[in-house]
Amino acid sequence: MKSVKDIDVTSKKVFVRVDYNVPVDENLNITDDNRILATLDLISYLVEQNAKIILASHMGRPNGKKDPKFSLAQVGKRLSDLIDKPVLFADDCIGEKVSKTVSQLGNGQILLLENLRFHNEEKENDEVFSKKLADLCDVYVNNAFAVSHRDQASVTGIPKFVQQSAAGFLLEKEVQSYYDSVENPEKPLVAIIGGAKVSGKLAALENMLKFVDKLIIGGAMANTFLKSQGVDTKGSLIEEDLLQTAAGIVNNAKEKGVDLLLPLDLICADKFDKDARVKEVLIDQIPDKWMALDIGPKTALRYARAIEDAKTIVWNGPMGVFEMEKFISGTQTIADAIADSSAFSIVGGGDTGLAAKKCHVADKVSYVSTGGGAFLHLMEGKKLPGVVALE
Ligand code: AMP
Repeated sequence: MKSVKDIDVTSKKVFVRVDYNVPVDENLNITDDNRILATLDLISYLVEQNAKIILASHMGRPNGKKDPKFSLAQVGKRLSDLIDKPVLFADDCIGEKVSKTVSQLGNGQILLLENLRFHNEEKENDEVFSKKLADLCDVYVNNAFAVSHRDQASVTGIPKFVQQSAAGFLLEKEVQSYYDSVENPEKPLVAIIGGAKVSGKLAALENMLKFVDKLIIGGAMANTFLKSQGVDTKGSLIEEDLLQTAAGIVNNAKEKGVDLLLPLDLICADKFDKDARVKEVLIDQIPDKWMALDIGPKTALRYARAIEDAKTIVWNGPMGVFEMEKFISGTQTIADAIADSSAFSIVGGGDTGLAAKKCHVADKVSYVSTGGGAFLHLMEGKKLPGVVALE
């Protein structure tokens, strides 16, 4: 993967695909600017190199229509404050006016384009649209790890029409952290996988068996595994059609000598509700019609101990319904164990990133990925289309 540092960008028009899909409140104020902060090192570098910087991103799901709710104008202002430099804003991402503004950019100047998804052609990876974006620049840089698993115009379309393409610092860091922690890790490598469904992470589970020494399973997906081992999971969320697959993964782990850990006890509830009645039970004692919504304390302790000797930890998926206070404690115990460990620890983005934040460990682990889907894509052993497009 070519790095932006390998390209002479001085006086060149550099199109940088960033991920400024930031959360906003009802008054459109930005509530979390981490995604903007994550791009400052690259932008400062390009300013120092006297490049002409064109930033582009999507935000939300405007469905191909201009919608002030999804405008990047606020992002431009916040970026300008953070970087302490003017940031020009274009009210579209293509068109004559945009081309004119780009042609007038001076060295070291920054222009932010309006939301790429105001055009359906972005998601459709339309060639004409990709070419129009490509025509704005001399060099294309992808710094948006979180969308690099998508085949979209600003991710895989533009590089087809630009002479020089490269990865930005964030994309490099994300891909490197992943390979360092999964494909070339210091051993033992422990993966902790949880979340809602086996189906969403099946390919990742199968691929991880090639690399890990221990595989720890929690969340609703543990229910399907437990049932595949003959446990009556009563009213818990399970995927009937994946029982055989789950049993296959358990056998495969045995054959490979991977220590696969499943819950011994559970926190179960009489309904899926924050005010539900709850009970701590052993796996074979779930009351009729009740459902498991978190791993139990014995399991959490066992999982925490299993992490102790790890040199590398990969965590993807919460251990329970962490959004509700009554079902966060399994996730909290694991999060604390990861934070206390001296291992290199990498946490998947999306829901797991949120869980790490909620458990106050986001700044105590080695790395929290900025991408949920893209991180999972890597865990499945697949190359990211956005990275392939740069090759
Ligand atoms: P994922 O995106 O696959 O990592 O799934 C995350 C979601 O799984 C979170 O919203 C959790 O609330 C949910 N989850 C975790 N454990 C359970 C469980 N035992 N039952 C139902 N949902 C769960």
